Amino acid sequence: MHTARAKTLVSRWNGMNIYRGCVHGCVYCDSRSTCYRFTHPFEDVEVKENAPELLEEALRKRRAAAVISTGSMSDPYQPCEKELRLMGRCLELLYKYGFGASVITKSDLVLRDLDLFECIQQRAKSVLQMTLTVSDDKLSGILEPNVCSTSRRYEVLKAFQEREIPAVVWITPLLPFLTDTEENLRWLLDRCFDAGVRGIVCFNAGMTLRDGCREYYYKALDRHFPGMSEKYRKRYGNAYEVNSPRNAALMRLFHEQCEKYGVLHDPEQCFRYIADLPEKEPQISLFDGIAPGKP
Ligand code: SF4
Repeated sequence: MHTARAKTLVSRWNGMNIYRGCVHGCVYCDSRSTCYRFTHPFEDVEVKENAPELLEEALRKRRAAAVISTGSMSDPYQPCEKELRLMGRCLELLYKYGFGASVITKSDLVLRDLDLFECIQQRAKSVLQMTLTVSDDKLSGILEPNVCSTSRRYEVLKAFQEREIPAVVWITPLLPFLTDTEENLRWLLDRCFDAGVRGIVCFNAGMTLRDGCREYYYKALDRHFPGMSEKYRKRYGNAYEVNSPRNAALMRLFHEQCEKYGVLHDPEQCFRYIADLPEKEPQISLFDGIAPGKP
């Protein structure tokens, strides 16, 4: 881990990343791809130590509130967040300025900020975006080695559901020949429906592989599933889109089940739902008067 002072934080599309790089170790991680031009090892997480200051500056300048999203490139709940609490301070600022918050994570550390998400939800809007890829916790431990198991993530979803904070789940990737089974998909969908999620993002039953990400993934396959990388090479070559041979059937099942349970399943609809900030009556809550940065 190393620190840096960033120049800007919030993009014009209302996205931000407090950390650059990730130690969660997912074998399929797209953020490792060379196109993102990391100038440091991916696991040597860069901490934007002035993130709260930059966020406050950006929020002050905005004429209208919006939902600020984080986690598209790096999980914001890195282990170091436990000590640093940059994400927690950023959430306090979003609450203070009446903005919404949306976070993509696989980590149960997000539960630490549950009260904050609840307050933001009451004043503006909060959306938890959680990724689930595999029903089998043992396999999850191989594919996503340094973050909590799928069953723990399901508990996190339930905790957010209890507080009436909406969630959108990403079921992606579904790895060809590893997790692209009907049984796996049904199990994940059932947990999503049980946790009352508003939407599920699943572009395809498959994954994407770009330079950098592909090499890392194939090395992991060689370590844990001998012969599998050869199977990928033969079938997909250097293709970017690597869809399961069962893609059509699995996607049919996905759309049918979501339709049946009234869950958003078109990615664009999910993204519109996340970004949409409804007007709410101002409410006083536990965090009113909180000083930014105060634990
Ligand atoms: S949590 Fe996300 S950013 Fe981190 S390694 Fe996994 S896929 Fe990559």
